[in-house]
Amino acid sequence: HIAVLGSTNMDLVAYVAKAPQRGETVTGREFRTLPGGKGANQAVAAARAGATVAMIGAVGNDPFGTQLRSALDHSGVDTDLLRTVEGQSGTAHIVVDDDGGNAIVVIPGANATLTALSAGDKAEIASAAALLLQLEVPLEGVLAAARTAREHGVRTLLTPAPAQPLPPELLAATDLLLPNEHEAAALTGITDPAAAARALLSQVPEVVVTLGAAGSLYAARGAEPVTVPARRVTAVDTTGAGDTFAGALAVALCEGKSLPGALSWASAASALAVRRPGASTSMPYRSEIDAEAGA
Ligand code: ADP
Repeated sequence: HIAVLGSTNMDLVAYVAKAPQRGETVTGREFRTLPGGKGANQAVAAARAGATVAMIGAVGNDPFGTQLRSALDHSGVDTDLLRTVEGQSGTAHIVVDDDGGNAIVVIPGANATLTALSAGDKAEIASAAALLLQLEVPLEGVLAAARTAREHGVRTLLTPAPAQPLPPELLAATDLLLPNEHEAAALTGITDPAAAARALLSQVPEVVVTLGAAGSLYAARGAEPVTVPARRVTAVDTTGAGDTFAGALAVALCEGKSLPGALSWASAASALAVRRPGASTSMPYRSEIDAEAGA
C-alpha cells in the first residue's frame, strides 16, 4: 500500500476567459467547490490508479471538512488517519482561464496542525511500499514522515510544491524528487530543466521534472537525462496534472514498472485528467489509464 502525508483543501474555483491582472476586476463564467489539496489529490490519484492508499492529514470541524473526508472515502482512500481539528479546513482559491492555465492562493487552515506524527501514522508509513509527500503542510510533519520512511526503507517521492528552500535532511531522505519546471528552477536557480535536474542529483538519487504539455524529464546519477513526451490532448483544466502524475507514478513504481514505462503510464493518467475540469474529480481510474496508455 501507499501512504500519503499532506494537505486536504477545498478548491474554490472561478472559471474566467482571462485571469484578472492586479487591480482589475473581471466577470467570470462559473464557480465550483471541488475537493483538492496536493496531499489529498495525490492520494485520490493513487487510489483511482489501483493502489490501496492511506491519507495522513487534517481537516477542520467545518462543513468543508465533512465534504473533504467523504470525497476521499468515495475515491476509496483510507481516512482513518485523517484528523478532524478545531477550526477551518484548508482552502485553495483558484482562477482557471480559457487556455486551461491557473493561478492559486492556498490558505492552510487545519493543514497547519500537521506538525508531528502519531504512533498510527508511523506504523502506516513504516509498512508502506511508498510514501508520497508535498509541501502544503508544515515542514516538521513532512520531515518526520520522511525520517520514518527512511528508517524502514520505504521509497519516498517528494513533490517540492509550493516551492521553498528545503532542509538538506529532507532531500537526503528523498528517493525521487518530482518538481515541475518552475519548482526545479526555484530550487536551483537554473531555468533549463535538464541542467536543474542534473544539479539536484547532488542531493537526491532520482529526479523527474514535469514540463506540462512538453512532458517530463527523468534524471538519475550516472546517466543522461531522458525526456518522455506528453500526450497531445486539448487541455481544459490543468489543475492537479502534477498530482495525478505523482499518484500514478507511485502506483506504477510499486508495481515494479521500470522508470520509462512508469513515466509513460503517468503521462497517460495526467493527459486524461487535463481533459476534464477540476483536480481530484478529473482523475482517471485504472481501466481508463490502461486503455489510454495502450492507445
Ligand atoms: P503541475 O500540475 O505540477 O504544474 P505539470 O503541468 O508539469 O505539473 O504537468 C504534469 C504532467 O501532466 C506533465 O508531465 C504531462 O505529462 C501532463 N500534462 C500537463 N499538462 C498537459 C497538457 N496540456 N497536455 C498533455 N499532458 C499534460
